[in-house]
Amino acid sequence: MVDIENILSDLGTKGNLRHLVHAGHCGGSMLIGGQRMLNLSSNDYLGLASDAEFYADFLRNSGLGDYVMKAMSGESVYGKCIPEQFLFSSSSSRLLTGNFSIYEAVENELCALYGTEAALVFGSGYHANSGILPAVTGPDDVILADKLVHASIIDGIRLSPAKTVRYRHQDLDQLESLLKRHHTACGKIFIVTESIFSMDGDVTDLARLAALKKEYGNVMLYVDEAHAVGVRGRTGLGVAQEQDCIPDIDFLIGTLGKALASAGGYVVCTKAVRDFLVNRMRTFIFTTALPPVNILWTLHVLKRLPVMSDRRDRLASLSERLREGLAGAGYVSDSDSQIVPLVAGESFKAVEMARMFQRNGFYLLPVRPPTVPEGTSRLRISLTASVTGDDVDHLLSLLPKK
Ligand SMILES: *Cc1c(COP(=O)(O)O)cnc(C)c1O
Repeated sequence: MVDIENILSDLGTKGNLRHLVHAGHCGGSMLIGGQRMLNLSSNDYLGLASDAEFYADFLRNSGLGDYVMKAMSGESVYGKCIPEQFLFSSSSSRLLTGNFSIYEAVENELCALYGTEAALVFGSGYHANSGILPAVTGPDDVILADKLVHASIIDGIRLSPAKTVRYRHQDLDQLESLLKRHHTACGKIFIVTESIFSMDGDVTDLARLAALKKEYGNVMLYVDEAHAVGVRGRTGLGVAQEQDCIPDIDFLIGTLGKALASAGGYVVCTKAVRDFLVNRMRTFIFTTALPPVNILWTLHVLKRLPVMSDRRDRLASLSERLREGLAGAGYVSDSDSQIVPLVAGESFKAVEMARMFQRNGFYLLPVRPPTVPEGTSRLRISLTASVTGDDVDHLLSLLPKK
């Protein structure tokens, strides 16, 4: 067994011990130790998870509010069925008794939005990424993955029998030379990447990946849009929509827990792939399906996603304002999204900077090695549509001079 005591004390000495912080939430703010801070570390990019009006609209619209009112008024429910879309548990895997019709409603909605044949919903984005590659890859295949892909994708790669090569972050020239080297000598090549990277906020040239796929023939594209779904594209379907290449992506992964303010993950794919995953994907088969009432909420959000352009536009202009302000103060980054890194350098500097921002009412957290490379410790500023232009200006005014 690992030496638990020693490892913990070592983490403590190096300033890398992580804690679970008790936090209250109200709107876009957090309450920690009696202090109110603007939450700039959230993935609630559209500001939906904290929007009381939007939530009330769901309660009215879904009938859940009425149902609760009836229960509160003491109306007898003895012997009656609980409406299945209001259940707090599915009590089963979807392959046994947990396949409520609300799941298929969400999957049909995803197909209609993306214009694809099929979609499949999972317990989380983590389940999607750790389960799909192990199910669909064989020992003759090669996975070419960006160096900085998310931990959930790395776990999927570890469980896959395919040979894996990581290419330098966003270095699509290196990727192309790897394609040249491998494409005749293996089964299929899986190019695996994210569309917006979670630590740098940079955006992948998916259109170029689509072109590479056409050129080399035996290529499959696997793209994780966790930070882009809801935020990018005309109707909020992500960078693939923005770059007009949805049909070129074989496995388009989204998460429901970030901009979509719910929980779960999904893939949009062909019908054959969906049927196969239902039969072979362990993180789909051997786990309890999400609570139906939560899927009902997801459906409510998805149906309204296309008309949320005002939130997307607001977020885009706030992000631009922040990026320009930072660049003007000498803090350059590769970000082209709502995730903007503020690189401090050594870990202690990032910790100090985070404390300073927190004292001034901005909830920012230091991100240190091994999450990011040595010497690039940073604050990861993540904007949401509920932040104001004044908030951004105030934040910029606090920047230490370079
Ligand atoms: C958050 C995240 C996931 C995991 O999604 P969950 O639904 O939170 O499990 C997967 N990939 C990326 C890139 C993420 O940022």
